[in-house]
Amino acid sequence: MENTDAHIRVRGARVHNLRAVDVSLPRDALVAFTGVSGSGKSSIAFGTLYAEAQHRYLESVAPYARRLLQQLPAPDVDGITGLPPAVALAQARSVPSGRSTVGTLTAVSNSLRMLFSRAGTYPPGAEHLDSDSFSPNTAVGACPVCHGEGVEYEVTEGSLVPDPSLSIADGAIASWPGAWQGKNLRDILDTLGYDVHRPWRELPREEREWILFTDEQPVVTVHPVREAGRVQRPYQGTYSSARRLVLKAYASSASEARRERARSFMDERACRGCDGRRLNAAALRVTFAGRSIDELARMPLSALADLLAPWHDDPGPAGALVQDITARVGVLVELGLGYLGTARPAPTLSTGELQRIRLATQVRTALFGVVYVLDEPSAGLHPADCEALSGILRRLRDGGNTVCFVEHDMDIVRGADWVVDVGPGAGADGGRVLYSGPVPGLAEVGESVTRRYLFDPPVPERIGRTPSGTLELRGIDRNNLRGLDVDVPLGVFTAVTGVSGSGKSTLLGAIGEHAAARGRAVWVDQKPIGRTPRSNPATYTGLFDTVRRLFAGTDEAKALGYGPGRFSFNVPEGRCPTCEGEGFVSVELLFLPSTYAPCPDCGGARYNPDTLRVAYRGLTVAQVLDLSVDEALEFFARVPSVARSLDTLSAVGLGYLRLGQPATELSGGEAQRIKLAAELQRRTVADTVYLLDEPTTGLHPHDADVLMERLRDLIDAGATVVAAEHEMRIVATADHVVDLGPGGGDEGGRVVAAGTPAEVAAVPGSRTAAYLKDLVR
Ligand code: ADP
Ligand code: ADP
Ligand code: ZN
Ligand code: ZN
Repeated sequence: MENTDAHIRVRGARVHNLRAVDVSLPRDALVAFTGVSGSGKSSIAFGTLYAEAQHRYLESVAPYARRLLQQLPAPDVDGITGLPPAVALAQARSVPSGRSTVGTLTAVSNSLRMLFSRAGTYPPGAEHLDSDSFSPNTAVGACPVCHGEGVEYEVTEGSLVPDPSLSIADGAIASWPGAWQGKNLRDILDTLGYDVHRPWRELPREEREWILFTDEQPVVTVHPVREAGRVQRPYQGTYSSARRLVLKAYASSASEARRERARSFMDERACRGCDGRRLNAAALRVTFAGRSIDELARMPLSALADLLAPWHDDPGPAGALVQDITARVGVLVELGLGYLGTARPAPTLSTGELQRIRLATQVRTALFGVVYVLDEPSAGLHPADCEALSGILRRLRDGGNTVCFVEHDMDIVRGADWVVDVGPGAGADGGRVLYSGPVPGLAEVGESVTRRYLFDPPVPERIGRTPSGTLELRGIDRNNLRGLDVDVPLGVFTAVTGVSGSGKSTLLGAIGEHAAARGRAVWVDQKPIGRTPRSNPATYTGLFDTVRRLFAGTDEAKALGYGPGRFSFNVPEGRCPTCEGEGFVSVELLFLPSTYAPCPDCGGARYNPDTLRVAYRGLTVAQVLDLSVDEALEFFARVPSVARSLDTLSAVGLGYLRLGQPATELSGGEAQRIKLAAELQRRTVADTVYLLDEPTTGLHPHDADVLMERLRDLIDAGATVVAAEHEMRIVATADHVVDLGPGGGDEGGRVVAAGTPAEVAAVPGSRTAAYLKDLVR
């Protein structure tokens, strides 16, 4: 029967917190997974469905993968039938390589290069170039001076001596190596007759230049100043200029960290060979539509499509290539990404933009019969662009695919064919499928938290506070903001709105810098709290320091001579030697991004057996790290400093997280709320400006409400909160709204409306107004 059964049937899934979940999903349908943060949505969609499909794929490429399969066990599930191959578009954690751009990710660059190679206008007598010659990433195409990077690094007085008020003895030359070697250089200069105790800026110009830039390498006999009674013998010392030392470290140091340190003392500027255009001169002389390829690469995609439109029906090679480019660009524009240029470096893209780019690419490649798994495709999208997104998802489905997505935007969920609601709570209070069926049926499920937001959303309550002052920004000039003036009221909540690319993040950055110059500005963003499994909620909030002292204070630890360091997984004595305290080992997969698998020796415990002989009130340190925040709250109820940290974690809705949950496993929304918890622990938040970029991304509306309550606590304590936000329920509660637009990129960057939510909702030219109208009174 399996072939004719149009369902994917999961039996007995126990991944993470899932409680032997049985669930059936229709194939060739749009399937939304909903539920509060930590309920188990990802554990079904990614941890079970995608992981099982990936495992089966690896099995099929045996025998090479055998050994890896043992390290990457199949998900804990009794069985899945009807599962097609799966493609995950989320992969927020595997960021593309440093050199990829919007153009390489979408393959638009490739077509543009062919267009220039085959249909470009060449200077008279010039040889025709192949398409590789138009790529800065190839030896033939790259500018020979900067090797295609577009920038050069150089040392300047400013980069070597950041603080000229210091004397050489006080460390004016910041790039000098530390400890003995730095002292050596100082003593040589002293011996040569330079005044090492005078502020740098008071030294004569020729002296400063010689010290920093000379090519001479004089050898002198140094009689070191006696230090702390230690007798030091005279020695022969060689002087090298600060520039020589930095360039040498940058060019020839084997250690990446040392190269990186050297880089930090160099200024970056546009390459003189290519003026920052990255290509060699021959390629830059070829034009199409009167422009060079790097000019086209810098244009917004929507403008690029307009420029190329006249060649769409050209019978020559240009026609076919332009059709290809406009088709690719068309989907990107539909997904609200028309403001991006193909030259935009991938690392500067948000995860939402990146996922939509991958989505656009999939729509073009037209696979058939696969399961797509997406993580909140609406992330970063203004409501005005959400309809187009639904359209693209439907197109993937109509191409014969099953599209599974975790989603919090209720408008997108309403457009799904099927909804799987997981919950009711998080962690141990979740892990059950409360409902699986067509969307309207969820209205009958009483214990669902999602139901209310889907069918009867609570009307947001606006407090309407009075500002304590104003932050005045004048003439902001960056990215697409040109001479913008913006007032930000202090001591209240300001929401910044506008379509994707209108300039919200850019404005937030400007507000942050302005605020930092006058006091304290704190970003509460969704970036990971650490890059390795060594960071976790316990280490980030600092509560683990106390926990380690508690373990060191036990009689067993004292008898064994174990101090607090023994209980740190960052110290060799106490940790498991195999995984060096990570609990995980990295598994390198040919053709696939590397993944983490549990450590074969400690099974994830992170510590060596000797450390685990010590128990504090019956639990080992590994067992403590395995407690959820709420469990730990009970366990540490009588240790006030630990309990206070745990309280704040629970208050931001993270009671379900395990104390030792590695940073690499936390979602962006979880990382953000951990940062917020760390701020809530502080006793002084007054006069701080908190900046949040789309804080409700990745949050169920219920979790968003909890987050907003905590932000309100901060404001009540005197803080200012500024958030870029798309969720209109949240915007409606703001004290002040700054609406940017009207469009993205060059079509945005202006203040379209500013005022209370009701005032903004009444402005005709605002694309936000229509979505805000129903929520304000
Ligand atoms: P959701 O997607 O609904 O936010 P998840 O599926 O990510 O929820 O998480 C469900 C539960 O599983 C949570 O309690 C979470 O802490 C836990 N969890 C998530 N990832 C892991 C993991 N890699 N190992 C162990 N537990 C995990
Ligand atoms: P929003 O936050 O409203 O989506 P952004 O502030 O991210 O908008 O972007 C505004 C404009 O600035 C867009 O045209 C975008 O392409 C451009 N931009 C943003 N970040 C960068 C960057 N790092 N490099 C170049 N351009 C950028
Ligand atoms: Zn160059
Ligand atoms: Zn180990």
